[in-house]
Amino acid sequence: MTFKHIGILCSGGDSPGMNCAIRAVVRTAIHHGMQVTGIRRGYAGLLRGEFIQMNLSSVGNILQRGGTILQTSRSPEFAKAEFRKRAVDIMKGQGIEALIVIGGDGSFKGAMALCEEHNFPVVGIPGTIDNDISNTEYTIGFDTAVETAIEAVDRIRDTAHSHARTFLVEVMGRNSSAIALKVGVCTGAENILLPHEKVDHKKIVDDIQRGIARGKESSIIIVAEGPVSGRSYEIQNILKDLYHMDAHVAILGHIQRGGSPSGEDRFIASQMGNLAVESLIKGEYPIATIVKSGKVTITELPNCTKKEDHNFSEYKDLAHTLSI
Ligand code: ATP
Repeated sequence: MTFKHIGILCSGGDSPGMNCAIRAVVRTAIHHGMQVTGIRRGYAGLLRGEFIQMNLSSVGNILQRGGTILQTSRSPEFAKAEFRKRAVDIMKGQGIEALIVIGGDGSFKGAMALCEEHNFPVVGIPGTIDNDISNTEYTIGFDTAVETAIEAVDRIRDTAHSHARTFLVEVMGRNSSAIALKVGVCTGAENILLPHEKVDHKKIVDDIQRGIARGKESSIIIVAEGPVSGRSYEIQNILKDLYHMDAHVAILGHIQRGGSPSGEDRFIASQMGNLAVESLIKGEYPIATIVKSGKVTITELPNCTKKEDHNFSEYKDLAHTLSI
């Protein structure tokens, strides 16, 4: 099917590299003679009719910018069928014939519902720093978030070493272990605490003391935030109260969301944006662009509407072994 006019929006949490995907979608679509409407602030903006016509220049000079020029939002009303019907009516009223959604599994559920309920053509591009979407090895923004966290932990290591301190460094990812595991290996963390793992405080203390005994001057424990940010404070209190061990807490928080996208994020987002449009042109929808065996490809969208913790716990063992 030939589409003359497509829409694009970002939904859920922003991630570095979303702009590269927007640029690739707009430029590929215009190359094929299509009109592109940018929808601001996700599904909420769609329901409010926040549209901008995109041209070649509207996506110029954005490759290197973090966040998303279209902005994003969470839109609880979109979980209701009546609002999705309204969204389709609004898009049809604008002449928009297909929608590309950049976001996480929740955003993909919303897109899938538009397709199931109204036969509206949709394509999903995975964008979240958490790397927690089913059936894709990669989501746009993960690499940049990891690089940002590594840089921060390296800085913390400098001061931790100078004062012979232990730090609990909490990284983002909610229930996903992906950022914690990669950052832990790359920063020589003495321990990585995964989101749903019961914390073995005694083992943390034993490991730190063993390190001190062989002359170590600092310890870094990477804490995956889990459902609610701030769990490091609870661990800090238990280490103090039960084991008389002082540990400092550093919660990296939203600095991991911002910043200029890494080469990897730019490269994958550019391929995904291009493939999203090419797939629509070939009549392949509803699909999501994914990374499989290291290559950018597509799969059916329902395969990507779940959260999946790519929990390679061997990385935890690797970090632990290498930091003895
Ligand atoms: P992130 O991983 O960054 O949190 P996400 O896309 O998973 O991204 P959510 O907050 O889960 O983030 O979803 C974003 C938006 O998608 C929601 O605010 C809502 O508008 C829509 N959405 C989520 N789940 C559904 C659903 N089951 N049905 C319809 N729309 C949904």
